[in-house]
Amino acid sequence: MKPITARELAQILGTTVSVGDREVVVSGGVSTDTRKLPDHSAFFALRGENFNGDHFARKALENGAVVAVVQSWEGEAPPSGTAVIVVTDTLLCLQQLACWWRKQLDIPVVAITGSNGKTSTKDFTAAVLSKRYQVSATKGNLNNHIGVPLTVLSTTPEHTAAVWEMGMNHSGEIAPLCEIARPKYGIITNIGTAHIEFLGSREAIAEEKGTLARALPEDGKLFVPAACDFNEYFRQRTHAMLIPVGNGRGLVRAENLRFTGDGSQFDLVIHGETPVSVSLPVPGRHMVTNALLAAGVGWKLGVPPEEIADALQYAVLTGGRLRRFDYEGVTVIDDTYNANPESMAAAIDTLAETPVEAGSRRIIVLGRMGELGPFAPAAHQRTGELAAARNLTVIAVGQGAEGIAVGAGDAPYFTDFDEAASWLTRETKPGDAVLFKGSRTATIEKVMHAAFPRT
Ligand code: ATP
Ligand code: MG
Repeated sequence: MKPITARELAQILGTTVSVGDREVVVSGGVSTDTRKLPDHSAFFALRGENFNGDHFARKALENGAVVAVVQSWEGEAPPSGTAVIVVTDTLLCLQQLACWWRKQLDIPVVAITGSNGKTSTKDFTAAVLSKRYQVSATKGNLNNHIGVPLTVLSTTPEHTAAVWEMGMNHSGEIAPLCEIARPKYGIITNIGTAHIEFLGSREAIAEEKGTLARALPEDGKLFVPAACDFNEYFRQRTHAMLIPVGNGRGLVRAENLRFTGDGSQFDLVIHGETPVSVSLPVPGRHMVTNALLAAGVGWKLGVPPEEIADALQYAVLTGGRLRRFDYEGVTVIDDTYNANPESMAAAIDTLAETPVEAGSRRIIVLGRMGELGPFAPAAHQRTGELAAARNLTVIAVGQGAEGIAVGAGDAPYFTDFDEAASWLTRETKPGDAVLFKGSRTATIEKVMHAAFPRT
């Protein structure tokens, strides 16, 4: 955000400064976390089930913030050179401020949603656009009703393009994010079954993601994987131009795709132009699609193909997704960050396509997937079946994962993490590749750290 005074800030929020220095300048942006307070920032005291940000407001003003936006303020005056603005709903005010600031920004905004691959695609897109733009990109996973406004507000007048991730667990969540972000470009990475417990069906998920399609303007562009079975649905709902990308088909394509140990190589073909060769530093067919989506955005925003290829090659993806390391000759693949049926299928493919020497094994260590509601038993069983069908050695770990073991044809199943780790220590040999994955709540990384401790 650009620097504004407490008085101006209050005015944008439709109120006045309640107490303190009206003319103090907020030049350090906005924060909701007293542990990460830039100097001269505005602190928004949010409320959650277990916390009330108002209790931290004074501390915030003593530690760098110059304005606190709160729902209640009692007691003495704030420290000198600071101000307090009392409002009825701090979250709403945060969103309101983000709306105001977005309107001041005359830059192309790319919004990314989908069941899987948002953050990876965001990282690729930001890398590609960084070749020609100063990019404001979502940090980590700040993709919800709090994260998106904070991301918008972290954008400064120096930025010349934005790549923002939008997540959702329930229907109706994407629309307000689009209202704040006002994207011209959209990416829908895929329609899977993540959070289906709350949404009920894939059609409902498509409808929710379709909100982004609807939000784009007539001169906007919507990038989708050519293979997505909801593309016709999106085409009917968007004013923007739909641009399918894909391996083998689509306006942006990967040809001669081949997998290496820790990534892939392909010829990137953009709208019939001369192919450029790309080495992607992360494994998995799904990552190729994510990279192509980013390439499509780069193309439309004027990044030359050679620069797109270079950016993809050196892209650094946010941690916890398909990271590889070597442990005494064993290739360990850490994909423990999260899981749902589609990302499990992608991980299974990735491991199945990971080269190992003759006689070595591909072992997949899987924990439960959350938020599947009544779909859970069939989804776990299916994951086990898929892994077994690709000749992976499956072990299932932790409560809720037994269905995976059953699906894989009575694969080993451990409720105890230490037992699972001992099994791995005993069974794995140099040359094997072992992939770990489960929902965040399954904490499969504990098994990985116990079996393959990194120094
Ligand atoms: P979140 O909902 O947690 O924000 P996300 O949509 O941002 O997730 P990523 O963090 O990029 O997704 O990736 C999450 C998982 O999904 C990883 O295991 C990754 O390997 C897998 N994945 C990434 N892209 C795809 C894809 N296009 N299809 C299926 N799985 C994918
Ligand atoms: Mg994400």
